[in-house]
Amino acid sequence: MNVPRRWIRARVAAALLLPGIALAQEPPRAVAQASPAIVIHAGSVLAVPGQAPLGPQTIVIRDDRIVSVEAGLKPAENFGTGSRLIDLSDKFVLPGLIDLHVHLAIMMNADSSTVGSEAKLAMAAAGYANKLLQAGVTTVRDVGDNAGVTPALRDAFANGELAGPRVFVAGRIISRTGGHGAKKPGPGELPYSPAACDGTESCRRAVRENVEQGSDWIKVTVSGSGRESSGRADAAPILLPDEMTAVAEAAKQADRPIAAHAHSTAAINLALSAGARTIEHGTYFDDASVALFKRQHAFLVPTAFVADFVGSKLDMFAGGKDGRQSADLKAWADAAVAGPGRAWRAGIPLGLGTDGGPSFDTTSTAREIELYVASGVPAAEAIKAATSNGAAILGMGSELGQVKPGFLADLIAVDGNPVDDPARLRTVVFVMKQGIVHKSGPPISAARVRIER
Ligand SMILES: [Zn+2]
Repeated sequence: MNVPRRWIRARVAAALLLPGIALAQEPPRAVAQASPAIVIHAGSVLAVPGQAPLGPQTIVIRDDRIVSVEAGLKPAENFGTGSRLIDLSDKFVLPGLIDLHVHLAIMMNADSSTVGSEAKLAMAAAGYANKLLQAGVTTVRDVGDNAGVTPALRDAFANGELAGPRVFVAGRIISRTGGHGAKKPGPGELPYSPAACDGTESCRRAVRENVEQGSDWIKVTVSGSGRESSGRADAAPILLPDEMTAVAEAAKQADRPIAAHAHSTAAINLALSAGARTIEHGTYFDDASVALFKRQHAFLVPTAFVADFVGSKLDMFAGGKDGRQSADLKAWADAAVAGPGRAWRAGIPLGLGTDGGPSFDTTSTAREIELYVASGVPAAEAIKAATSNGAAILGMGSELGQVKPGFLADLIAVDGNPVDDPARLRTVVFVMKQGIVHKSGPPISAARVRIER
């Protein structure tokens, strides 16, 4: 018998509107079941970073999202058949950390034997990203990868082909020819064509090529690095105003936000005036910068971790071509390490990033939070910078960075309260990203994995 499809649609619509009546008339058919719930018993929950933590809560997750957060520890059976309980009733649960300044595919002091090929670099980057996830960093923004391996990593993690954090990528670093991040490949670097921005046409082209290659963000360097004289407080920007404007216009047209690397005051203010969403490093902001941050709703990502690292290894980093001498470099490192607190006191909104990558261990994000606190940022606000502020910067403020119904289930747990002692974030004992558990329980010691013969 030929039944008109329109008629079937009408019956289905009726069934949805009047399920009791429709079921009596329709033959039995499969009803879509809600997926079984994951029920987390949490001892304490930092549901909204910046606010006081909650006491014991039951967090219910279906598929990749949080569906409810209820006070008290409710039996898992309350949430349907097949529900699975995860007992974190003696742990502190908070949103997964967001590191806005990483370089998954830049190896510091690498030589050709450690990099070798794009494939080898991609493996190192994937391995490091996986360790970051294990350390509780569920989202990263990669702000510069001239080798071009990060878009594939982002997609492999998003598709579940590999386990890793959620990744937003900037791709090639845009600067003027010879500028920071757009120099000719150095020793140990794979060959690449720098994203050179010299005059408006090439600046637009660099942005558009990056967008074509999959960039979610546009990374532009407007000053030299902290190690270079072009990164000094009073240095002129390394881009001309029309170059910065061309980058901003092409990025805006493609709906890509800008992360602008800038140390010198003039570079910071040029980037802010052009509409950068984040200033990276931002060591030498002044009062005019503070006003611009507020007017433009921009955020600072100070990267104290890398400055602290450079400051502890002056012999390795001082001098060289265009480099700053030891005392001068130390003054920069001190200013940069003090940056988060100075910005906080000035009322600049903060994100959090480390400038970390495969050359570092994966406690860097937690240590950045500790450095914020050491420089005068209240711990609750430092954790907020690393969670809900990061989410807002990424345009995901209604889905990430809080423990609330409707949000993606990115959750981590630690022993004790990290608002009282941020160093606890160095040892994350549970990691869930988008409803999938990536770590539960303490790390397995070598003794426990020894194979008995
Ligand atoms: Zn960087």
